[in-house]
Amino acid sequence: MKYFSTRGDKTAFTAAQTIVKGIADDGGLYVPEKIPVAGKTPAELSEFNYNTHATWLIEHFLTDFNYAEVVCCVNNAYNANNFTAPNIAPLHHTPQVSFLELFHGRTLAFKDMALSILPHFMQTALQKTENPKTQIILTATSGDTGVSALEGFKDIEGTKIIVFYPENGVSVIQKQHMITQTGGNVHVVGVKGNFDDAQSEVKRLFLDAKLNAKLNENGCEFSSANSINTGRLIPQIIYYFHAYSQLVKGGMAEDTPVNFVVPTGNFGNILAGYYAKKMGLPINKLICASNENKVLYDYFETGEFDSARPFHLTSSPSMDILIPSNFERLVYSLSDGNVIEKLNCLSSKQKFEMPVPQDFVGFYATEAETRAAIKKVFGAHGYLIDPHTAVAYAAYEKYAHPDEKTVIVSTASPYKFPKTVMSAVDAKYENHDDFALLEQMAELTKQKVPAQFEGLNTKPILHNKVVSINEMESAVLEII
Ligand SMILES: *Cc1c(COP(=O)(O)O)cnc(C)c1O
Repeated sequence: MKYFSTRGDKTAFTAAQTIVKGIADDGGLYVPEKIPVAGKTPAELSEFNYNTHATWLIEHFLTDFNYAEVVCCVNNAYNANNFTAPNIAPLHHTPQVSFLELFHGRTLAFKDMALSILPHFMQTALQKTENPKTQIILTATSGDTGVSALEGFKDIEGTKIIVFYPENGVSVIQKQHMITQTGGNVHVVGVKGNFDDAQSEVKRLFLDAKLNAKLNENGCEFSSANSINTGRLIPQIIYYFHAYSQLVKGGMAEDTPVNFVVPTGNFGNILAGYYAKKMGLPINKLICASNENKVLYDYFETGEFDSARPFHLTSSPSMDILIPSNFERLVYSLSDGNVIEKLNCLSSKQKFEMPVPQDFVGFYATEAETRAAIKKVFGAHGYLIDPHTAVAYAAYEKYAHPDEKTVIVSTASPYKFPKTVMSAVDAKYENHDDFALLEQMAELTKQKVPAQFEGLNTKPILHNKVVSINEMESAVLEII
């Protein structure tokens, strides 16, 4: 399997090369030359556990890794040390709809699904490409990527990780996680700006020739753990197959079309669902759920993509995104003609038109609808969902096809957002402290606070640097 840039450079790369490089030299994203056809049926796959599923899927894409290397990466990622659920990504069923819980990893968010394996892909890829340089993992985060990438890369040999987060754009708990992160190779820096500003600057730094030359002099080079890395995209395809085959195992007929509702930010998760569909998984609609930053909803409604609009901070911060990076891969796969023109529009925040593919439908939830969804699901099923999952639930209701089999992709544990979740259930929690609310949430649901959060509020703060957007470059230089 060869990989190419979305921006038209005709150079072919191996999977290992794309994992190390992260982003293409022309600023594009790497895409596989074709989407492979799944070699097994859902019924055959229903006998697989998560790890055999993962190995099977990854082998379709990382054809330059041998079987033993893939198995080793998979087992280093998906194990009891990193995940608290025995089958990694379990389904939670309610009478109408099933929730695919992707939040049983170290940082309780779906980013762990890919970021627990990416560092192992990268180590293997560095060996395969005989690359002796220290990899500087440079990342802008709207919250979850940062925490999860830090956990994944901490103390991984041959890497240093630098995470930039919008100072006021992440939750109290996410911030606490990041600024207390241990590990000899980790650096966390706050940014005065929003996520899109930080992400744009990170993209610019990646391509800055002078900065890259300085890195080289120091035996370093940039790499990315952001959702544009092929090493993150591919592992996200696994759980669509796994979820589907779990439904088959539970008695669903093998070819039943299933909808997946995906709370969407950078368009990585839902794009993996699209790839799963193109591989042959019987997915009906991919329901793209947005919060009030509804640039994707507007596109799926009108066929016009336009990110020039005011930015909203919402209770689902990982979806507060106006320029969804992975959308470029969809543009690439849908337009054979003037791709470049559209992509330029995407990166320069201008608008363009593109016929809407029938595989998708978009809905969005306001803040009030998000809170109402949390309250409703808890009231009806005693099941607490986080604000991102609640946006997806609200989208599911707006889609209004209760007769169709549907899976809601649940991307974070409610424990990550205690204030929003608890005050949605009952206004009396509104003025409680986030950390006290963790205990109250456990009481309400008769569970324990997840071990990942124990003692978080008393950990020493190790990272307190905050910079403006144009100081990010010097912060990087200081660190290397
Ligand atoms: C990252 C994230 C999303 C958005 O996923 P994308 O792949 O960026 O679309 C949704 N919910 C949570 C909790 C996340 O961390």
